[in-house]
Amino acid sequence: MGRLAVVAIGGNSITKAGERGTIPEQFKNARETSRHIAQMIVRGYDVVVTHGNGPQVGNILLRAEMACSVLPMLPLHTCGADSQGGMGYMIQQVLGNELRKLGIDRCVTTVITQTVVDAGDPAFSNPSKPIGPFYTSEEAERKVRDDGWKVIEDANRGWRRVVPSPMPTRIVEADAIKTLLEAGSIVIGVGGGGIPVVETDGRLEGVAAVIDKDHASRLIANYIGAELFIMSTDVEQVALHYGTPDEVRLSSLTLDEAMGYHAEGHFPPGSMGPKVLASVEFLRGGGEEAIITNPESIERALDGEMGTRITR
Ligand code: ADP
Ligand code: MG
Repeated sequence: MGRLAVVAIGGNSITKAGERGTIPEQFKNARETSRHIAQMIVRGYDVVVTHGNGPQVGNILLRAEMACSVLPMLPLHTCGADSQGGMGYMIQQVLGNELRKLGIDRCVTTVITQTVVDAGDPAFSNPSKPIGPFYTSEEAERKVRDDGWKVIEDANRGWRRVVPSPMPTRIVEADAIKTLLEAGSIVIGVGGGGIPVVETDGRLEGVAAVIDKDHASRLIANYIGAELFIMSTDVEQVALHYGTPDEVRLSSLTLDEAMGYHAEGHFPPGSMGPKVLASVEFLRGGGEEAIITNPESIERALDGEMGTRITR
């Protein structure tokens, strides 16, 4: 086998800000990212591709909401599974096409993936992650009463359902992903961080939660023994004082520096925070280097010319 890498694609780089998120737009963005992943494969990497699903799963939920007068409502865990199938299909097709263009005949396979979370995770008593559409206060009250939802008022834009975002503890299909890799396949898995399930006496059951894809991706990265973990997002580099006149971009960071800057508050929860913490955990779990960059910069980042590289 080649050198092992996990590439985590941001859900926001498949449905970009300013786009409607049409299927042709998503295919175009997935194709662009796939061109760069294909170049990694040319360079000898065996790759597991993971991806976020925030915008996409929000749309699936909204579609179910709007159709609920004629069709049964969908629970969040099956919406997650639907997004894994739809996005996995798209990525496996465009990545396969890019590889064949380069004369590489490799199978690209999507694994529907469940991720175990702890039923006692404190996130379950503190749902904080807003998902899906906005509601008026009357609609929201009805959802709370009839469906047992938790809701919050989201930045004066209306009321939204909030769900727990527990930490992932185990990737159920990890061995299947490893077996496919060993058989020569490029594997797409852990979509949206995996479908959240709780385990009771060996029995799995889906729960209404969302899992951070960066944390779940680093779990599979360590499990398969990847040496490289790339998080492909919409910034070229991680920065200190991000978005201020004092912004300083970082091209390399040690694990201790990353933890220090995190403690100083440079990397907010819900965006850069999980990427930096997932990098730290990846290195502690035996990984060699983590890179945070955008899709266009992947090759230059591998050459050490762009991106932010985090090492021990
Ligand atoms: P993804 O969908 O790829 O997970 P996120 O939106 O969760 O993307 O995280 C990437 C975003 O983090 C960037 O678009 C950027 O706006 C934001 N960000 C927050 N803090 C920083 C920082 N210190 N350096 C760079 N980007 C940052
Ligand atoms: Mg994110």
